[in-house]
Amino acid sequence: MEIMANLRSILGHLTSTQKEDHALVEKAYSFAERAHKDHTRYSGEPYFTHLASVADMLAEMGMGPKTVAAALLHDVVEDMGVTPEAIRDEFGPEILFLVEGVTKLGSVRYHGTDRHNESLRKLFVATSEDIRVLMIKLVDRLHNMQTLEHVPKEKQPRIARETLEIYVPVAHRLGMGRIRKELEDLAFPYVYPEEYKKVNALVAPDMKDALEKLEKLRKTLQKKLAASMKDFKTHYRVKGMYSLFRKLERREWDMSHIYDLYAIRIIVPSVDQCYQALGIVHQMWRPLPQRVKDYIAFPKPNGYQSLHTTVITNDKVILEIQIRTEQMHKESEFGVASHLIYKDVQVGQTAANRMADLIPMLFRPFLWRRAAETPAVTTNKEYNIEQVPEWIKEIAEVNKNTKDTGDFVAELRGDFFSHRIFAFTPKGDVIDLPIGASVIDFAYAIHTDVGNHTASAKVNGKMVQLHKELGNGDIVEIYTKPSNKPNAKWLNFTKTGLAQRHIRQSIADARNAERPSI
Ligand code: MN
Repeated sequence: MEIMANLRSILGHLTSTQKEDHALVEKAYSFAERAHKDHTRYSGEPYFTHLASVADMLAEMGMGPKTVAAALLHDVVEDMGVTPEAIRDEFGPEILFLVEGVTKLGSVRYHGTDRHNESLRKLFVATSEDIRVLMIKLVDRLHNMQTLEHVPKEKQPRIARETLEIYVPVAHRLGMGRIRKELEDLAFPYVYPEEYKKVNALVAPDMKDALEKLEKLRKTLQKKLAASMKDFKTHYRVKGMYSLFRKLERREWDMSHIYDLYAIRIIVPSVDQCYQALGIVHQMWRPLPQRVKDYIAFPKPNGYQSLHTTVITNDKVILEIQIRTEQMHKESEFGVASHLIYKDVQVGQTAANRMADLIPMLFRPFLWRRAAETPAVTTNKEYNIEQVPEWIKEIAEVNKNTKDTGDFVAELRGDFFSHRIFAFTPKGDVIDLPIGASVIDFAYAIHTDVGNHTASAKVNGKMVQLHKELGNGDIVEIYTKPSNKPNAKWLNFTKTGLAQRHIRQSIADARNAERPSI
C-alpha cells in the first residue's frame, strides 16, 4: 500500500505553521524534484516518489521542517552528484550535516556474518551522530521495504535480512514500536519464506471472523468505559506476523499458548485513569491469573510503559488489554522520536535547534572518540535536564557498575567506541580496527597477501600515504603490486598484532632468501 505523497500532503502534515518552515520544505521539494529528474526506481516510477514518501512519513510522525527537508534531499549527493557545497549554499550547514549523515549510513551493509551484527548495529547508531539522521534512515528503509517487490529478485533477501538484523533491533532499542513492527513484517516473507507460510496458515483462516468479533468487543468496552471516564480512545491491534513467529518458536508452535494475538488498547489522559480502566476491564471480563503486568510501575528496558492484562470474554475470546496514557502511547510507537515531537510542540520554533544540542549530548557518551572527551551529562544551561524522560537520562548516564551487560545501550555507553574504529572496503564490508590503525593494518585485516603486497591506497577516494591513520567510517581501497614487500618502517605505523606478525615474518623470510644456501 504505497501512499502517493506530494507537496500538499507533506506541508499538511507539518506540525509547524510558520511561513519560513513551509518555505524551506517547499524549496527542498523542488530542488530534489529537479535533481532527480529522469531518475527512476526499479518500479519504473520517478525516483522522486521515494523522497516525497519518506518526507511525508517523517512529517506525519511529527518531525520538524529541517528533518523533512533533509529527507527530501537525502539521495541527491550520492545518487545525483550534487555537491555538498551546493546544499550548504542553498540550505545551510545543519541540513547538509543531516544529508551527509544519511549518506554515510548508506555504507553500513550487512554481509551475512552474524558475528559482526552487534558491531554493525553499534556502528549504525554511532555513525548517525544525530538522532534525526537515524530517523530519516529508518523511514528511508521502511519505504524501500514497502517497495521491495520491485527490486530484482536476487537482491531482495539480502536487503530484507539486513533490515531484520540491523534496522529492526535499532528501532526496537530506540523504542520505536510502530516502525519496528512494520519493518519486521515486511522483511519476514523474504527472509523466512517457509516459516512465513506456516504462520500464515495458522492465523489466516480465522482472521476475518476474528476482526469482526474484535470490533464488537471494542465497542462494548468503549461503552462501558464511557460510563465512568471521558477523553479516552480504544482501538484494536493484531500481533505482527514476525513477532508471532518468534513467540510460536518458543511455544512449540501451539496457538493455544498465544494469549496476545489480539489486543485492545485503551488510551486515557492520566496514569490514575490507567488503573481505573484496569478495574473496569476486570469487572467486565474475567482476567487470567498471573497475566496482569504493570509496566507503568516497572517499565521495560527500552522505556515501554503500559498496563497489560489478559482476559477471557463472555464468548470465550482470549484477549490482551493494553492500557496507557497518550504520552506512553506515543513513546511506544515512536520511542526517542516522540520526544522530538513533544519538544517541537512545546517550545515551538527553537525546538529544532535545541534538539540538535540535546540529542547528540545525550548520546555522546557512546559516540566514538568523543567518549573520552565529553562528560556524560554536561550541565547544559540552555536545556533543563529535568524535562528529559528517565529512560533517556539513563542512556546518557555513564554508570560503570552497570550489571545489565546484555544491554545494547549499556554496551554502547561503555568504552567500545573509545578503542575501536570501523572502516569499510569499497564493497561496504566493515573492518573493525583499533584506534590509530593505518592503511597497512587495514590491508592485513583483509588478507595476508593483500597486506604483504600493498603498494598504494585511497581513502575516501583520495590517494594517501601508507602510514595514514584511519578514521571511523573511512572507505579504504588497497592497491597491490606483486613485487612490493613489507619493510621494517611499517612496524612503526601498525597497531594490530596481526599486521606486525606478518611484517616481521616477511622481513625474516626475505633475509633468509638472501642468504646463500649451502
Ligand atoms: Mn533513499
